Amino acid sequence: MQSKAEPRRRIPVYRPDLSGREKEYVVDCLDSTWISSIGSYIERFEASLADITRVPRAISLCNGTVALHLAIHCLDIGPGDEVIVPSFTYIASVNAIAQTGAIPVFAESRARDWLLDPAAIEPLITARTRAIMPVHLYGAICDMPAIMAIAERHGLKVIEDCAECLGASLNGVHPGAFGDVGTFSFFGNKTITTGEGGAVVARDPVLAARMRKVKGQGQSLTRRYWHEELGFNYRMTNIAAAIGLAQSERLGDILARKRALAARYRAALAAFPVEFQIPDQGVESSEWLVSILLPDACDRERLMADMMADGVETRPVFYCAHLMPMYQHLAVRPLPIADSISRRGISLPSFPDLGAEDQDYVVASLRSALAAQGFLS
Ligand SMILES: *Cc1c(COP(=O)(O)O)cnc(C)c1O
Repeated sequence: MQSKAEPRRRIPVYRPDLSGREKEYVVDCLDSTWISSIGSYIERFEASLADITRVPRAISLCNGTVALHLAIHCLDIGPGDEVIVPSFTYIASVNAIAQTGAIPVFAESRARDWLLDPAAIEPLITARTRAIMPVHLYGAICDMPAIMAIAERHGLKVIEDCAECLGASLNGVHPGAFGDVGTFSFFGNKTITTGEGGAVVARDPVLAARMRKVKGQGQSLTRRYWHEELGFNYRMTNIAAAIGLAQSERLGDILARKRALAARYRAALAAFPVEFQIPDQGVESSEWLVSILLPDACDRERLMADMMADGVETRPVFYCAHLMPMYQHLAVRPLPIADSISRRGISLPSFPDLGAEDQDYVVASLRSALAAQGFLS
């Protein structure tokens, strides 16, 4: 690219699009004084999540990590139990298991879609295994028919981490509708955001009612200040829900723009020596962050620094959880595919209003960074 010293532009990996009724709804909260965790936006946002996922019960929470923790806790999983989870995931998936006292058991990922490999699950099942946690990374969806069949065969619970796949579908079914619980995050870079926020969905009304109770200090849903069991304060505020409702009104538009820019990247990089995630047949991805795997011999840090010098921000994909200091003792088997994806992956600028010209600039920057290392001429 041109002058390395003075980049002409600055293109971030992500920037939320808050151009709908977000401000109007937030001002309405302030005017009404309903700024805490009671208010009409909470109910409306929960109804809209139930509508999007087609799971009748959605419960708003203060972030996606507590959504996972609440789900595992309310499935009565805790000390001594084991939960099978891919090592290649965002750390929250694994931390939430450990927070309950249960043990994360790290599974291998699939090379083509970077997701939990169903074939890796059964060899990990022991007498202590209680649940499987498929994580639908980067907008694609795990092979849920295969995972649910394994869970049924062994009597295991299934917690779907749907933080990155709101709006995706597998054969027309929204993720979160396959397992016992689906969890969502509305952090600032997720498909829709509430600032910080999360939710769970569950088909079973008894489990849903328990999660609703436990997220509010375990207080009886009918008797004030009567606390029936150990609980937490995992509530979302009405202000956050107001932002979420405005965002959810535009989910279709946000998804359409993200899918268009993902398709555009795939076309523009078709001749580059990089690999895209290849979702299963029947998966319509939410295209959360468009990510690619670089050639094995590529120096990723150098490539990212070269692109940054052009003003293009990129981001490495997640490090494998089994490499983290607090989980290294659980790294009992080699996970070469997860390791390879984690070492080679980067995410490209993928925000909904990324313009075509800026996207071309990202592609040109990537081209020259690859060429600098001899991977393109
Ligand atoms: C974002 C994310 C979460 C949880 O997110 P919070 O930041 O706690 O809202 C969990 N799992 C995955 C895979 C995520 O990407």
